[in-house]
Amino acid sequence: MLNLSASLVASAIVNQRRRATTDTPVKLRREIESCRACPRLVRWRESVARDKRAAYRSDVYWGRPVAGFGDAKARIVVLGLAPGAHGANRTGRVFTGDRSGDWLFRAMHRAGLANQPESQNRDDGLVLSDAFVTVAVRCAPPDNSPTPLERKKCAPYLEREMTMLKQARVVVCLGNFAYVAACEHFGVARRPKFGHGLVVPIDNAVAGGNMHLVCSYHPSQQNTFTGRLTEPMLDAVFATALRLARGAC
Ligand code: SF4
Repeated sequence: MLNLSASLVASAIVNQRRRATTDTPVKLRREIESCRACPRLVRWRESVARDKRAAYRSDVYWGRPVAGFGDAKARIVVLGLAPGAHGANRTGRVFTGDRSGDWLFRAMHRAGLANQPESQNRDDGLVLSDAFVTVAVRCAPPDNSPTPLERKKCAPYLEREMTMLKQARVVVCLGNFAYVAACEHFGVARRPKFGHGLVVPIDNAVAGGNMHLVCSYHPSQQNTFTGRLTEPMLDAVFATALRLARGAC
């Protein structure tokens, strides 16, 4: 059974890579949004959308996978874990409609990467400049914990987005899960231990030359309520990302 799963994943990855050569943002978005490759996550995202949280009872939940969002010419890519059950899984846009998104976009606004500090819904006028926000796994997972197999199945979507983001020079990894996904994407063989503020330079063929990963604690309520992540700490991460994106040391 394990071998069968592994070979199915391998063949899905090969097929997605083949499609990447003819990708457009619209085509990729459509494919992502219609994906049903992970039965456990499909069941979960749809059950959350059906049952809803009481505060959002009148909302029509998105309940589908979520594509990345932002500036096609971005030098800074912000990589999160997965859609929040009542955030992106409700609104249909990454980091939109929950507390994590409030923290992230306020910081991006302060850094000059977003035109406004709020991210409420897909029609709220939010525009990113020089930044693209995406996630390692496109469906909301139970307990915010996708399995390694689910991460692998979803990885080609990140590859395809990164292939289109030709000017990307920095990936801000929000949390260890995103960091591992980014290291796997770039083929980082000896991964330094994750830590807030960690900077990992990458200079290989996948990265297309000079690329940096900049790590941050995830702006989840678990981290922000406890003070593990503060706004100055997140601002410092974006200041580093901007400096590296501009080519300064
Ligand atoms: S997690 Fe990714 S691969 Fe799995 S169903 Fe969602 S979009 Fe498809």
